[in-house]
Amino acid sequence: SDSHFPVPINPSLFNLSQHYPHFFPDRSNAPKRIEFADIGCGFGGLLVTLSPIFPDTLMIGMEIRDKVASYVDERIRALRTPLGDYHNISVVRTNSMKYLPNYFEKAQLSKMFFLFPDPHFKEKNRRRRVISESLLDEYAYVMKVGGLVYAVTDVEELGEWIRGCLERHCLFQRVGDEEAAGDPVAKVLESATEEGKKVLRNGGQTFRCVYRRIAA
Ligand code: SAM
Repeated sequence: SDSHFPVPINPSLFNLSQHYPHFFPDRSNAPKRIEFADIGCGFGGLLVTLSPIFPDTLMIGMEIRDKVASYVDERIRALRTPLGDYHNISVVRTNSMKYLPNYFEKAQLSKMFFLFPDPHFKEKNRRRRVISESLLDEYAYVMKVGGLVYAVTDVEELGEWIRGCLERHCLFQRVGDEEAAGDPVAKVLESATEEGKKVLRNGGQTFRCVYRRIAA
């Protein structure tokens, strides 16, 4: 349960030097901040794919399952090289639906990812979906103006739900297909993660949306 993992009381107490030691050889350095968050990162495929594309950007995966988070941690450690490869990605075991503001300051993140989130089909379980109108308030808080939210699912009904929530929220605006097509990140979304690979293998359809955090 939630009580079994430590959560920082506020973002300034989130120990980044533990997660990204390569970037924090000296604590007096101007602090670098996490910019990308992969919510419900699963086995970490997106982080591993994005790491070399943005080698100087710190990224974190958030994953609630203990064993899965430990696996991702080990996976990343095994990939890291003395030259600095894969030192910009890390994972934290946490409940992102409860504790996001404990990890990130206001206007900190430039990208948030929601790839193949759990669908929670039943009406009574929809409140457990990782995108909802109230959670979008929190996501808007931790994102900087101009930042992008990427969501992909293979469940059409969930895709419509996510799009609907974002569409109704006054702090998010849809990014058009043309712009999204030119975004190097959007290109890898469907194929980067373990869940995405499974869907591709089975010839399943995917539903993607990209929204920009806009000014109030
Ligand atoms: N994004 C990964 C992918 O595309 O392969 C994983 C997709 S998997 C269907 C959904 C993941 O979200 C699971 O690993 C699950 O444990 C995680 N998850 C669900 N609720 C969460 C929460 N509240 N906080 C953090 N992770 C969560």
